[in-house]
Amino acid sequence: MGTDRHSGAAGGTDRAAAGPLAGRTALVTGASRGIGRGVAERLARDGARVAVHYGNNEVAAKDTVGAIEAAGGSAFAVGAELGRPGDAEALWREFDRHADGLDILVNNAGIGTSRPLEEIGEEEYDRVFAVNTKAPFFIVRQGLGRLRDGGRVVNISSGLARNAVMPDKVAYAMTKAALDVFTRDLSKLLGPRGITVNSVAPGLIDTDNTAELLHATPGGWDRAAAISALGRVGAPADVADVVAFLASDAGRWVTGSWVDATGGSLM
Ligand code: NAP
Repeated sequence: MGTDRHSGAAGGTDRAAAGPLAGRTALVTGASRGIGRGVAERLARDGARVAVHYGNNEVAAKDTVGAIEAAGGSAFAVGAELGRPGDAEALWREFDRHADGLDILVNNAGIGTSRPLEEIGEEEYDRVFAVNTKAPFFIVRQGLGRLRDGGRVVNISSGLARNAVMPDKVAYAMTKAALDVFTRDLSKLLGPRGITVNSVAPGLIDTDNTAELLHATPGGWDRAAAISALGRVGAPADVADVVAFLASDAGRWVTGSWVDATGGSLM
């Protein structure tokens, strides 16, 4: 195991000058687009070297890496399609070509479901669990030796894991509820190593994933904005800032928690 890079106290002046995450390596799954891209850019701005994971969209991943480098940060792309046998091995094999261990793991890559309960088939059910639940489980399990003591794990959940506002998304919501149980138990398992584990639960965020709902459905944007106490639709940066806090030294005493990042959509 590596050394503990997240000390019990806040970072010193050297680290602050170079960014609070200077010297740390982060892996963000699904960082080619959407929330993951926002998280990758934010962690890089805080000084971390970021592995930008993607599934199929290498062009978008390279665009994220380019944006990070243009802003003075450091990043590299890691391709591995999740939701198929051997996905976690493939991801770590690719990661190992660029870095020697990591400090921050953000399990963000995920997919939704398209059909209501009456129509969803076994294939779609299995697929959404394979990508959203099984993949993060095995990425963590096979990453345990790479994750340094004092590190951070952040799992991107969903407000739907705790709220039935979109009951037709039940299978998707179940994948995130299972991920939340993983967060809780993992926080106990990794606590002795000083590693914190938390779930961050976004509400509706403007990404490719929600484009049809927000942009192609008449009135969709206004209805989504009205759900939030703050009266607007969320942006990837709204979630990225929460993840950055948990990844930082300032988040050292928060573990096993479910952080509501829905803009007050669950009240
Ligand atoms: P998005 O814009 O559709 O981006 C998804 C990202 O995940 C992309 O980088 C994509 O890679 C990657 N990905 C998807 N399936 C993959 C697979 N099978 N293998 C490898 N990579 C895969 O999604 P998003 O809206 O940012 O969502 C990110 C996370 O937030 C998800 O876990 C989602 O459930 C959660 N979330 C989103 C919202 C929301 O309103 N947007 C709300 C709550 C929770 P490629 O570019 O290579 O395809």
